[in-house]
Amino acid sequence: MSFNSLGLAPALLNALNAEGYSEPTPIQREVIPAVIGKKDVLGIAKTGSGKTAGYVLPILHNLQAATVSSYREPTVLVLVPTRELADQVQQVFQTFIPFLTGRVTCLAVSGGVSINPQMQAVGKADIVVATPGRLLELVEKNAVRLSSIGTLVLDEADKMLNLGFKEEVDRILTLLPLKRQNLLFSATLGDDLSRVQQVVLRNPQVIKIAAEVDEIDLIHQLAYLVSEEKKGPLLRYLIKHGDLKQVLVFASSTIKADGIVNKLLKNKIHAASVHSKLSQQTRRDTLRQFKAGELRVLVATDLLARGIDIEFLPCVINYELPRSPKDYVHRIGRTGRAENPGDAISLISPEEMDHFKVIQKKMGKRVKILSGDQLDLQGY
Ligand code: AMP
Repeated sequence: MSFNSLGLAPALLNALNAEGYSEPTPIQREVIPAVIGKKDVLGIAKTGSGKTAGYVLPILHNLQAATVSSYREPTVLVLVPTRELADQVQQVFQTFIPFLTGRVTCLAVSGGVSINPQMQAVGKADIVVATPGRLLELVEKNAVRLSSIGTLVLDEADKMLNLGFKEEVDRILTLLPLKRQNLLFSATLGDDLSRVQQVVLRNPQVIKIAAEVDEIDLIHQLAYLVSEEKKGPLLRYLIKHGDLKQVLVFASSTIKADGIVNKLLKNKIHAASVHSKLSQQTRRDTLRQFKAGELRVLVATDLLARGIDIEFLPCVINYELPRSPKDYVHRIGRTGRAENPGDAISLISPEEMDHFKVIQKKMGKRVKILSGDQLDLQGY
């Protein structure tokens, strides 16, 4: 099946051609016509499924077809949980925008950088990709009005409607017109999904798209039972012995992440961390380096568990388990993407064992557990 039959404008078909997208992914096949048809969509799809282009393309199609009012204010709002995801989504819009015949502008707004340039630009952008906190700051400073938003996207919707963001997102929802198109994308379907529908899909013509294959099957999961003090040597053993070239390591806290990086550097393994205590510029640069294959090990907190698309990432290591089983699935989902198998290795201390059992139960999968303490870790 080609993109030609989905109803997209010729300019966008040219763009797809130029970008080398030869055929739509399963989620794109269903989402693109639905969005063009102004339906609400609930897409269950993980990062790697092509969900971003799935909503970006028809949104651009619809914008191009719409008559643009002389007084410009944003008509499309995409809410995302992290600054990194805001940048990533904006870049997908930016890939296709130059091919459009009309003038369409897209701006990412998120915290951690100066608000002033965003204040100047946000009111005039057609599409705003935002983290909730910064968007509300901009609203409070009268830099932008949300009363013309015709399409709302909640990317990582379960996260956006979860406790951490609930207050901010609820407040944003009160600022939007009642009549609008709602597009929700979520990789995990929790019990709270009925709440998702109640809150956002008021007049639901909902399309649910289940993943065609259980993508978790693409991930080769393995765990090591290992005492806490041996986790560091085991990590370095896995990287060196396995000759791993690009590894994403998840840690439970910013302090832990930095500690792991220091130890790796001392052992001459090129590593850096990404977490909330670092400047946005550092976060951006480090992530870019890692994506470009210039950094061997990236140690991150759960900030990076969601939505970040890294092509062909072969290995994710959980230095510690996340509290929530859902975050475990998100973390390991950074690998095994786009039909490339990947490894997800968890280092489990005896204290974490019960929690790991809960995670496996929730995930519906048993993970093979090896003994880390029996490995000869001398010299690592
Ligand atoms: P996403 O699930 O939106 O994070 O996208 C995952 C990756 O797939 C991105 O790097 C996209 O550039 C790529 N991609 C999305 N749609 C297609 C397509 N139809 N053909 C080839 N690559 C695609």
